[in-house]
Amino acid sequence: MRKLQISRRAVLAGATATAAATVVAFDPANLGWLTSADAAPGAIRVPDLDGELVVDEESRAEAADDYGHIVHRTPIAVLRPGSVRDIATIIRFANDHGLKVAMRGQGHSTYGQAQAGGGVVIDSRTLATIHRIGTGHAVVDAGVQWLDLIKATLAAGQTPPVATDYLGLSIGGTLSVGGIGGATSHYGLLVDNVLSLEVVTGTGEIVRCSPSVRPGLFHAVLGGLGQFAVIVRATVRLIPAATTARVYHLFYPDLASMTAAQRTALADRRFSYLEGQLAPTETGWSYMLEGVMYYTPPAEPDDDALIADLEPASTEIVDMPYFDWLNRIYDLVQQLMALRLPGPWINVFLPDEATDAYVTELLAETTPADAGGVVLLYPVSSGLLGQPFVRVPDSPVVFLLALLRAVSPPDEAETQRLIAVNRSQYDRAVAVGGTHYPVGAIPLTEPDWKTHYGDQWPAFRAAKRKYDPRNVLTPGQTIFR
Ligand SMILES: Cc1cc2nc3c(=O)[nH]c(=O)nc-3n(C[C@H](O)[C@H](O)[C@H](O)COP(=O)(O)OP(=O)(O)OC[C@H]3O[C@@H](n4cnc5c(N)ncnc54)[C@H](O)[C@@H]3O)c2cc1C
Repeated sequence: MRKLQISRRAVLAGATATAAATVVAFDPANLGWLTSADAAPGAIRVPDLDGELVVDEESRAEAADDYGHIVHRTPIAVLRPGSVRDIATIIRFANDHGLKVAMRGQGHSTYGQAQAGGGVVIDSRTLATIHRIGTGHAVVDAGVQWLDLIKATLAAGQTPPVATDYLGLSIGGTLSVGGIGGATSHYGLLVDNVLSLEVVTGTGEIVRCSPSVRPGLFHAVLGGLGQFAVIVRATVRLIPAATTARVYHLFYPDLASMTAAQRTALADRRFSYLEGQLAPTETGWSYMLEGVMYYTPPAEPDDDALIADLEPASTEIVDMPYFDWLNRIYDLVQQLMALRLPGPWINVFLPDEATDAYVTELLAETTPADAGGVVLLYPVSSGLLGQPFVRVPDSPVVFLLALLRAVSPPDEAETQRLIAVNRSQYDRAVAVGGTHYPVGAIPLTEPDWKTHYGDQWPAFRAAKRKYDPRNVLTPGQTIFR
């Protein structure tokens, strides 16, 4: 793959333009983009687009940043697609001219996963139409945020079965990583609730796929970290929505009693939603099981039946509208984002039998500042997770442990220290049979990815060769270099 530089003419056009400068040609001699085709003999005209390909400084800087503010790889252009055809056109163009391409949803990765240094970033925000809300399904563009989809489905009395804790994420970005939330204990991941997809493969082919039509591609793309195709449209499953959420916060004196209660609650799926939080206190940590029942009055949950055998030390119960519950952290995240704090997150899946010992050791070495506030810890049944490239430990119950670190005030040395801590905590997780949920900031090598995919690695590599043979797509995941 050739290293490309943006042409001086294009940089000047970008730097001086108040509006985004639209690219019209590619200059193979100088390996850069041109904003005026006339001026460069031999320039290759960029095929006609319904949207725009821009090279201005601001657009490229935004595409070289994400929620983590740690990795910055600047693309030489940003595509704002006006159609699916635009995405296919640019991917084919990239194949022809040795460029890398990454789709960027909301850029909520923390370690450059949606970046394409020296390549083209496709900004999916211009592809954000909700096409149809039917009974039991919705057809949406990849750039739609879950927040907007859920508002629209609730107006029709329906909801996606599972939601992430934060709703300001794109459909395409979450379906490329997996998508986990409290209702995963009932319905699996977001990727387990997709009925069909429209994608553009690494060769620029627009393809529809589903469990029965091109199933190999369908299952590869869901949780495939953008390696095989760009998701442009998804048909996602909907179920009838309850109106109300009853939230149970059950507090425990120690980790072992909290995880024991979580295992009991997971086993009979008594809650509609099951998560858990560890929060630093003055003397150590607090341990809270978070269970939620979704219901529509006049029916009501039986509080005693739900919590008596979970034996919490104390309990808080509160009712709220279903939508308010799903959208509970949106405002907080918006406030945090404004601070632009480095976010060296780590998210790992642990096998049940290793969880208590691993987490105990990790908490002992984690200061409140290192944790970045709340630590999430909750179990899911791995039998509900059906996509082959979403890797979790080989255990019927696995726990997600998420340290959503934020470095405040921003400090480069501290950020790098925490990335090194992530690496060592990742190694320890792997040593006990764990995997990582790939949205965090862990420096990984190709052998690490091989370990991550385990017996699925040959299939993962074969899918790459089949659907993206020139390794054009999604370099920021650093799987294939
Ligand atoms: C505040 C916050 C809360 C979060 N909460 C949760 C949670 O509860 N559960 C959970 O599972 N995750 C959670 N995440 C992680 C989040 O799901 C991932 O970071 C997700 O990738 C972000 O979506 P995005 O639209 O920002 O994707 P981006 O960061 O833009 O992209 C992520 C990856 O997907 C690729 N990609 C993006 N769009 C497409 C597409 N259309 N087709 C193919 N590949 C694509 C990108 O190239 C990149 O590799 C959270 C993140 C944040 C910042």
